[in-house]
Amino acid sequence: MWKPQGVDTAKFSNHQPDHPRTLVTGGAGFLGSHLCDRLLAEGHEVICMDTLLTGRRANIQHLLGHPRFTFLNHDATTPINLRRLLGFRVGVTSRESSESFRLDYLLHLASPASPKDYQRHPIHTLKLGALGTHHALGLAKAHGSVFLLASTSEVYGDPAVNPQQESYWGNVNPIGVRSVYDEAKRFAEALAMAYHREHGVEIRIARIFNTYGERMRADDGRAFPNFVVQALQGRPLTVYGDGSQTRSFCYVSDLVDGLCRLLQSQDIGPFNLGNPEEIPLLKLAQVILEVTGSPSGIVFKPLPSDDPGRRRPDISKAETTLRWHPKVHLREGIERVIPYFRSQLINARVDSPPKTGESPGIRPRRRNLLSKLEWFLRPTS
Ligand code: UDP
Repeated sequence: MWKPQGVDTAKFSNHQPDHPRTLVTGGAGFLGSHLCDRLLAEGHEVICMDTLLTGRRANIQHLLGHPRFTFLNHDATTPINLRRLLGFRVGVTSRESSESFRLDYLLHLASPASPKDYQRHPIHTLKLGALGTHHALGLAKAHGSVFLLASTSEVYGDPAVNPQQESYWGNVNPIGVRSVYDEAKRFAEALAMAYHREHGVEIRIARIFNTYGERMRADDGRAFPNFVVQALQGRPLTVYGDGSQTRSFCYVSDLVDGLCRLLQSQDIGPFNLGNPEEIPLLKLAQVILEVTGSPSGIVFKPLPSDDPGRRRPDISKAETTLRWHPKVHLREGIERVIPYFRSQLINARVDSPPKTGESPGIRPRRRNLLSKLEWFLRPTS
């Protein structure tokens, strides 16, 4: 018999009809935690499920005492019996809970999302897309919940058309290093559609393009955090290949807004959600250098295999149907996130304990680096 792996609050309240109850898998991740914030602000009762493999407790720390928030440390690849998971701790009998328990929405985000993370956890990523989505859909079916799948622009692989419309079927290498993520999400979309067709589950599919913002891990390996952190540290920005490959970067508040609109819409999708402002990676590095005022240079490194050459969402479907359009331009977004990445670097410095035998103060080798950092981490205003 499986047992819940951990319930972080005993305050799980009885469902109030005026508070929709919503489960967010991957709720402690970068996007998931912003969604939890937004759903709570809109009056939802939020159950955040995460194993903290790539998500972080720090992302939801501020929510842990909230009366409408529950954190469940549960791996979405194992079966999810929410009534028992929650009732186990709060002492609700299974009879009472099965009669009264209802889940209105289920947002399935759980998955490593950066190439570095999913290539480090390839099998788990595939299992999350397959088993995790299966369990989550089973739960949505049992509760009659609206199920929102966080899919990805990666379903288009290395696209042969630009911009990408939802009608494009993609160009994915099924055995390449990125396939563990791409194929997992493609399978998840197929499974969600099958649950809709066979069982009538109400589903919504979002294809999320590159997104950036506060709560991204400074070390998640993606271009955006890499470049900003490198610029703030005065280290050269690592551009892979010749930097002519393009991406389109969306600020997190815009993306969360798009997801919430999709949740409220009657349309299955799929919908591309992203900012159509397309930029070559070399240009992104230059803009980040300009905005941060960093004297860092740029170094070119080998292009990883199967790296998509171009990526830009055609968002006309979301504009028309969801009345959604991103508002935050790239430069403005970069300015907004700089203080966050600065604080991450300061925290990393404070948290890093000296090694045995070193003075409790700053290690000599680090002192040089830190004095350099002091300059880059200085407040700008
Ligand atoms: N990239 C880069 N330097 C880095 C990290 C990534 O030039 O330090 C490139 C990467 O090769 C890709 C693009 O930036 O072409 C976006 O990579 P990211 O990992 O952010 O996400 P992806 O869109 O590839 O999933």
